[in-house]
Amino acid sequence: MSALASLAEVGFDLTTLTTGELESRSPIDGRVLARLPRISRAQYDATVARSAEAFQAWRAVPAPRRGELVRLFGEAVRHHKPALAELITLEVGKIGSEAAGEVQEVIDICDFAVGLSRQLYGLTIASERKHHHMLERWQPLGPVGIITAFNFPMAVWCWNAALALVCGDTVLWKPSEKTPLTALALHRVLESVIANFADAPVGLSALLHGDRPVGEWLAEDTRLPLISATGSTRMGRDVGVKVAGRFGRTLLELGGNNAMIVSPTAAEDLAVRAITFAAAGTAGQRCTTLRRLYVHDSRYDAIMTRLKRAYGSLRVGSPQGADTLVGPLVDAAAFEAMQTALAAAKAAGGIVHHGERVHVAGLDGGYYVRPALVELAGPIEVSLKETFAPILYVFRYSTIEEAIAANNAVTQGLSSSLITQNLSEAELFLSAEGSDCGIANINIGPSGAEIGGAFGGEKETGGGRESGSDAWKAYMRRQTQTVNYSATLPLAQGVKFDIE
Ligand code: NAD
Repeated sequence: MSALASLAEVGFDLTTLTTGELESRSPIDGRVLARLPRISRAQYDATVARSAEAFQAWRAVPAPRRGELVRLFGEAVRHHKPALAELITLEVGKIGSEAAGEVQEVIDICDFAVGLSRQLYGLTIASERKHHHMLERWQPLGPVGIITAFNFPMAVWCWNAALALVCGDTVLWKPSEKTPLTALALHRVLESVIANFADAPVGLSALLHGDRPVGEWLAEDTRLPLISATGSTRMGRDVGVKVAGRFGRTLLELGGNNAMIVSPTAAEDLAVRAITFAAAGTAGQRCTTLRRLYVHDSRYDAIMTRLKRAYGSLRVGSPQGADTLVGPLVDAAAFEAMQTALAAAKAAGGIVHHGERVHVAGLDGGYYVRPALVELAGPIEVSLKETFAPILYVFRYSTIEEAIAANNAVTQGLSSSLITQNLSEAELFLSAEGSDCGIANINIGPSGAEIGGAFGGEKETGGGRESGSDAWKAYMRRQTQTVNYSATLPLAQGVKFDIE
């Protein structure tokens, strides 16, 4: 029996999803998995109104009690983990362990949020006035719009939703139009928990199926004080301007162009494994995928020999196969973008290894590729851009300063890494003169973050931070409070204002 069967308990049944404008296609073979209706403008307006009303009630529920809802949700996700992972594999094409890893991220952020629900700490501040005290308190913000990308169809929503819910906000989720099924299944799990939770108001969390226009409605909607948007830099530029135009807040998690430096002292096995997982894993479709590799002159030939061998033997195929390491690209457009980038790199003098389409027996409708390595003498137009496919541009370098400058010489600023046994180089990379990215790793590739740290990037990656550390503050409003417990009214800065 398919693992999907457990989802019948929350009213999710793939065989009933047969009508609607949105088509869910499996990257495995291109077949249509389901059809779902797109939300209309009138339905959207009613849903946001319900969410705003629900916020009035939810903000008054004590935060630890809000955390209890998220705890129960995390428990329910544990129960449905195999089914949810199978759906990710079906709809996004992730191999089994990566799909299960994504569901685990959902569980982990729920655990994190539960603890956080008792730790929404403010400050006490010394007042300059006698018998006064000052506080900084964090208050719930309002209904939060969450726009997500196809490549992390569950985890990214939950990074936002789990924190927003414990912070006292209500949530509205517009998933990628490429992944409506995974969104529906996960949301049904949350709905089943909400239905049995006495303090949860109707409209606490909503799912808004649709494509780009629904994202635009959210961006323009003055009822939503925060829009958290994950996706391409093109999308973020559009959303960012619209939300700023109405003085709303954004949390933007956009494209990356992540680099790794392999230094003279790098441990070779570790480096080759880190490069291959970070560049070829998830078929190059992570925001943190390794896209640029800087190898020290003294190690270049040996590393390239190992990489060419590793890439040649990568098991490309159905993500449902137990041995597969590289599943399909999401669709034909992703394949075409990859081939266009490889052709441009070749035309600019790059030496291209692999990158060709792989035909998998019985899966002709899927776009499978052997990940590509491209040797370049220096940056070219296409290596400065994010092509959302497994292409790794490889460069030589001779000094660490030169390599760090190259790491930083792109418009994106998400993740970065250095493989070294040299303490001075490692410290330089992590210093103010080092990597300019939101994430900087030593002896780890740039992909595969843990939920405990704040996740996000600088420059055209958007500047947002989600998940761990103090990322929760984005979902709350900060209030400075001053209390006078004297019988007089001393004014700040010694100002006098005596009246008769
Ligand atoms: P995309 O930008 O095409 O779409 C993302 C979401 O935005 C979808 O839900 C889409 O419907 C919506 N959207 C598109 N245009 C919009 C607009 N003008 N206004 C409002 N909403 C709009 O991205 P994608 O192809 O789904 O995902 C891949 C991209 O996402 C890559 O660039 C990747 O690096 C990025 N990404 C970033 C992170 C991160 O945390 N930094 C995480 C995952 C993916």
